[in-house]
Amino acid sequence: MKMNSLQQKIFYLKNRLFRPQSLRWEQEFLHDSELDGEARSALIFSRMRHIVRCAWENSAFYRRKYRAAGLEDGIIRSRADFEQLPPLEKDDLRNYADEIVNNTIPAGRRRLSTTGGSTGIPVKVYHDRRLPLDVVGWHVVRMFGGDISDNAAFLARYNPHKSVLPVNQLMWFPTRRCFLDVSLIRPGDWEEYYRRCLKNSPRYLQGYVGAIEEFAGFLSGHSLRLPSLRFVWTTAAPLSESSRAFMENVFNCPVYSQYGCCEIFHLACECVDKEMHYFDTIRHFEAVDPAGRLLPENQSGELLVTDLLNEVFPLIRYRNGDRIRILDRKCSCGSKFPLIDKVQGRTTDVIRFPDGSCVPGDFLTTIFDHAPRGRTAVSGGSASGLFFDDPLCSGFRTVGRRGGGVLRPAAPEIFRNRVAGQRRGGVRNCQRPGKNPVYCERGGGGGQ
Ligand SMILES: [Zn+2]
Repeated sequence: MKMNSLQQKIFYLKNRLFRPQSLRWEQEFLHDSELDGEARSALIFSRMRHIVRCAWENSAFYRRKYRAAGLEDGIIRSRADFEQLPPLEKDDLRNYADEIVNNTIPAGRRRLSTTGGSTGIPVKVYHDRRLPLDVVGWHVVRMFGGDISDNAAFLARYNPHKSVLPVNQLMWFPTRRCFLDVSLIRPGDWEEYYRRCLKNSPRYLQGYVGAIEEFAGFLSGHSLRLPSLRFVWTTAAPLSESSRAFMENVFNCPVYSQYGCCEIFHLACECVDKEMHYFDTIRHFEAVDPAGRLLPENQSGELLVTDLLNEVFPLIRYRNGDRIRILDRKCSCGSKFPLIDKVQGRTTDVIRFPDGSCVPGDFLTTIFDHAPRGRTAVSGGSASGLFFDDPLCSGFRTVGRRGGGVLRPAAPEIFRNRVAGQRRGGVRNCQRPGKNPVYCERGGGGGQ
């Protein structure tokens, strides 16, 4: 790879010294991404076979499930065998996570990731700490014409805590990165963030699409510009064409979309031609009809996605709830990763409070994965709390960090108790005539 800047050279030198596995893995990923036809297909099938065998040998859940489906020895001999395997459902993750996990791998190699919580039982998965998956992000940034060592700005939920921020900054030095935790945006935050952006000259902005659109709204409303930006990389929810057009106008650079889910990161990403490519060498996609039959290319169906790499917690033919269409055409950008149509699934909006605070809905999407369709409605909230019409969706309140900036699900029983009238101090009923009750929690965040 040609190194253009000192910043880039320092970044890769540091990785060579302290994370050599990331560079090795990057080479392998790039090599695989260039494979054609038979060789690519053979690599993908060998990974499918390996992950099924790994699941069979090390996970009581899969062995039981696959044996019941007629698999005798944990070995798939063809793609047709693979396509016969029963899908993995969200309920399976909820009920059997402890049996899915590969116990032969030391617990220290697992990184817990939970999503959801609307039913009180979050979906739990583990990722493999040894896999330097952030390298896929390096590839994505390069695809957009930048480099991961470029100065960047972030608008997401997970940011380095202020206690570790200096370490994070030192690790990345001389690359400058500025963050804003967007789980709750308070009045004045945008202005302060904009000033930091101006100081750090980010070449790209990455984060939740709703949050970035809010920021664009702020800039547009105040006739401000961020001239250093070369592209914007949105995540967490589909990007509508109207939002894209608005943001491209404000930021004066291209805006791209990435597709992923909390259970499996880095599923797909747009290229410079704004076509969505999925990373087939590490994630296997199938579109199926309601009966579970595989659909041909160009037909829209439910996505079954297989993480071809995660041996710690195998996710095989996982139905994540999104609908996709795998396309048979090639993209003019030259990438060999296959194309999918715009993902149909989650959309979000911003929740605004009368005091001027707002919560971009992006990160709330997974919380409602399991809520009955059409039953999730915000019934009330304030900068310190947010509650929903349906007790099934439980209550959410802000806790801890950054002066009460992170929304966490409150224990559903607590919320139900409150609904049942056993309200304790600090909670008030803002009942509106003829409408569902609204419960707001007053005062600061505090733990739960
Ligand atoms: Zn392309």
